[in-house]
Amino acid sequence: MSARRVLMPALIAAVVLGGCKSGGGFDMKNVDLGNVVKSVGNLREVKEPEEIQIGQSMTETLLGARPLYDDPELQRYVNEVGMWVARQSERPNLPWHFGINDSDHINAFATPGGYIIITKGMMKQLRNEAELAGVLGHEVAHVNQKHHLKALRKSAFASLLGEGVAAATDSKHAELVQKLAGPTKELYARGLDKSDEFEADRMGVVLAARAGYDPYGLPAVLTTLASADPKDNYLTLLYKTHPLPQARLDQLAPGLATLDSIKAPQNAPRFQQYTKKLHVASQ
Ligand SMILES: [Zn+2]
Repeated sequence: MSARRVLMPALIAAVVLGGCKSGGGFDMKNVDLGNVVKSVGNLREVKEPEEIQIGQSMTETLLGARPLYDDPELQRYVNEVGMWVARQSERPNLPWHFGINDSDHINAFATPGGYIIITKGMMKQLRNEAELAGVLGHEVAHVNQKHHLKALRKSAFASLLGEGVAAATDSKHAELVQKLAGPTKELYARGLDKSDEFEADRMGVVLAARAGYDPYGLPAVLTTLASADPKDNYLTLLYKTHPLPQARLDQLAPGLATLDSIKAPQNAPRFQQYTKKLHVASQ
């Protein structure tokens, strides 16, 4: 088993043990930082191991701001659902990792290489497993289509090339995290192109359907969000980084019409069982 595959359990262990610092489970001694920076900066095709290194580093920065939510059972459940959805994608063999972070903001995001975070706030908006599968499917689609990698190439990260990367240090991973921290924060505050979001919605619906779920899971979540108070502070970032929920529903409508005949489960009781504590904790 590779170090990458044990990343999420290691992070969960760190949370359970009371230490919320992210990244405890990383083993990044063999990072060729020069190569990673050149790949992104030179617009050459980023190889999969580099893509995963970039994603790990970005995830560390994002989890550094908001660590994982302390509920190992719920984390395991979200990983199982996410893994099943990701297996239906074009990149089933990426080292996929799914986690809930301890944030009340309503959001979900992905980093390159298969790292997907859904916020506690978003989990509380969901009513069943089909909705969870739809949200995770949207994020899996971002990874498959390399939307964040493409956005990074356009960002300030490309300019780092000019600085020349020191070859041999013991802390190449730390260096990569540090170099990516600024562009990561900027990218996740600004969001992706609207067209990437619409594409991820379409693909997310298909992935959830392929995984055997009611394809209306993601549209149902968007409907919930469309009826929420847009002034809700916890929606600010989602609204800033994504097209409005109603616009996303409008874009999805023609494709959804073709899925009308699919009658697939939503698994509401199982979802509610696992998320019960989430709601109790917030009261
Ligand atoms: Zn998105």
